[in-house]
Amino acid sequence: MFFKKKEKITKVFGEELLTCPRCNIKMEKLKKGEIIIDVCKKCNGMWLDAGEMGKLAEMAQELRKEAKKEIKDDEKEEEAASQQSEPLEDDLKQKEGDEDGKEE
Ligand SMILES: [Zn+2]
Repeated sequence: MFFKKKEKITKVFGEELLTCPRCNIKMEKLKKGEIIIDVCKKCNGMWLDAGEMGKLAEMAQELRKEAKKEIKDDEKEEEAASQQSEPLEDDLKQKEGDEDGKEE
């Protein structure tokens, strides 16, 4: 449980807060992983650097991949349940038998 790596969104303190260009109020700095986002509570606007934008896009893509993988895994499980394959042990036994019996 303690090792489960999940990035939490945390507040960032001690850094200069940006002012929302729309509302002209101080925005909150939030941190997720290594990305720091400035969020305006009033208009829900998010402000980030160009570099941060790229990272966010990467993260979004990763999340989408993960989601797809999870769906695929679910499908696989259903497949495995419907068509039961031969147990691997039988293959091993057959091989051993071939080695013992001489072919010529
Ligand atoms: Zn605002």
